[in-house]
Amino acid sequence: MAATDRDPDNEPNDLNDLDEVSDLVDDSDLPGRVDRLMDGLVADLERLAAIPSIAFPGFPAGPVQEAHDLLVGLLHDVGVPHVERIDLPDTAPVVFAEIPPPTPVAPTVLLYSHYDVQPPGDESLWRSPPFEPTPIEGGLRARGIADDKSNVIAHLGMLRAFGGRPPVGVKIVFEGQEEYGSPFDGYPPTDPDRFACDAMVIADLGNLRPGTPTLTTGLRGAAEVMVEVRTLQEPRHSGEFGGAAPDALLTLLKALATLHDVHGDVAVEGLRREEWTGTSYTEDEFRDLASVAEDLPLLGSGTLGERLWSGPAITVIGLDAPGVDGAASAVVPYARAKLNLRFHPKQDPHEAQDHLVRHLRALRPFGIPLTVTPGDTGPGYEAATGGPAYRAARAALKEAWGSDASYVATGGSIPLVNGLAQAAPDAEVLLFGAQDSLCNLHAPNERVLFSELRATVVAMCAFVRRYADDFRKGVTS
Ligand SMILES: [Zn+2]
Repeated sequence: MAATDRDPDNEPNDLNDLDEVSDLVDDSDLPGRVDRLMDGLVADLERLAAIPSIAFPGFPAGPVQEAHDLLVGLLHDVGVPHVERIDLPDTAPVVFAEIPPPTPVAPTVLLYSHYDVQPPGDESLWRSPPFEPTPIEGGLRARGIADDKSNVIAHLGMLRAFGGRPPVGVKIVFEGQEEYGSPFDGYPPTDPDRFACDAMVIADLGNLRPGTPTLTTGLRGAAEVMVEVRTLQEPRHSGEFGGAAPDALLTLLKALATLHDVHGDVAVEGLRREEWTGTSYTEDEFRDLASVAEDLPLLGSGTLGERLWSGPAITVIGLDAPGVDGAASAVVPYARAKLNLRFHPKQDPHEAQDHLVRHLRALRPFGIPLTVTPGDTGPGYEAATGGPAYRAARAALKEAWGSDASYVATGGSIPLVNGLAQAAPDAEVLLFGAQDSLCNLHAPNERVLFSELRATVVAMCAFVRRYADDFRKGVTS
């Protein structure tokens, strides 16, 4: 159960003055207002990014709490009347805050981001200490400064631009243990009233490239499968036994080789692959991002969007076999591999996993059966993009960046999205934010660009203003 500590001195204000409210809704020159806020937002981003809020086992909990407390203070400062914490076992506190809708016909928008960060990894690869936010051209470098503290600050910027009284009702969810994984993922459906809303802005990602406004409309699902082979009780001399004794490693490799066809497309039947209708990287961009040398081919056929987002991928992520150093001249008796499957956003996770499991179980390399064990699964997500929140968001992103929004998907998953979508099944889910594909997420030298942060704040402001306007017109007409 969640323990909450409501602050009775900070109960919501009643905003019944409709004239005042329509002034708020008609607010003009938001970009100028955001420009004037930028110095303060960047200063707060630096304070937040200087806290090593790593919610992983083996890291101290103090900094996570410190980041939490800083955010609670910032929300109180901007006048959010109701801030509480959701405490669940085995996870960091979730900041939950609420601003009631300013009028009975205003929609409610849930704003999500997370204040924990990935561990910095090998610090010798960083050009500046990971928790000392350091200026770079047009931005700042630090661990977590893009993922996802930039988006925490972007939400805050929207609230500041409206003086703490945006034209929509707001629910804020700032998670504190997203990167490691958290039992909070399953919590929203158990407390649906708390998360009830008309639209959500899940800001834990960003643009396809800096300057290209991007709405992420799909997340591929994921499943793991373990496959192992035992052929002998123990290793046997390859000179004496090789040639007839069944080799476990060779057996496993023959099995793994059936997962893809000669082009590198997944050859397992039943995994959905559909045309990708949104935008995608150019091949050069993708090569750059993935660090693929020019003289090497990419795997698979068809568009990159289809290969990366609306089709399956199977990756061998681990292999147990004798290492090369010190390898004995012996037939290998046992080998196993861990496979990571990514599948179409709309395919059922267990169905997708079953297709891979059945494919492997049906194999008999050299006549030898394999032991196949299904592992964890995570569902994908595909947003419905035809509603009023999407219309408002498309216009808002265009207003902020000056060009039409691209639709992309991502292979990475955000497990909480499914929990929130179950809690508020009719809410439109918008995924955009201040990160970009070059910001080195989860890698050394993570950075954020001020241009993206600023445009994200403008987009969030324009979104709530347009959405509230459309909502009012829709409800009153
Ligand atoms: Zn993140």
